[in-house]
Amino acid sequence: MRCPFCQHPDTQVLDTRISEEGDSIRRRRRCENCDKRFTTYERIELAMPTIVKKNGSRAEFERSKLQASIMLALRKRPVSAEAIEAALARIEEKLLSLGAREVASDRLGELVMRELRKLDKIAYVRFASVYRNFEDVDEFAEVLREIRPRKTARRGEG
Ligand SMILES: [Zn+2]
Repeated sequence: MRCPFCQHPDTQVLDTRISEEGDSIRRRRRCENCDKRFTTYERIELAMPTIVKKNGSRAEFERSKLQASIMLALRKRPVSAEAIEAALARIEEKLLSLGAREVASDRLGELVMRELRKLDKIAYVRFASVYRNFEDVDEFAEVLREIRPRKTARRGEG
């Protein structure tokens, strides 16, 4: 960190604090050359929100789990790995752009459905019809793993 007064490249950190909002770090610094003091604020990098399930429990967002659910919905469908990757990235971007520390699992489910709808109609219907009956994406993935594809199609009631 360069001194704003004399442009000296080295400054000493006197004190470090996290803001009350928890989104920035405040550092009190002293220039080693001119001895002037100043404060810098560093934004903490955006983090994925915690996912809040219907029963109120919380879970860290896990890309691998989300990917597994999407792959299951797209099972045997003609969708490229690149298209799936792009959809995942859009879902993550959307989650980040909400700027919330916590997001309801329902909201995540809606984001997934929106992307699936663009990717593949069959996968969308599969996901939408089954997902709505379950608590969250994780549970949906578990159930899909257990039941046969034929049964999956019948399960949907809209
Ligand atoms: Zn200085």
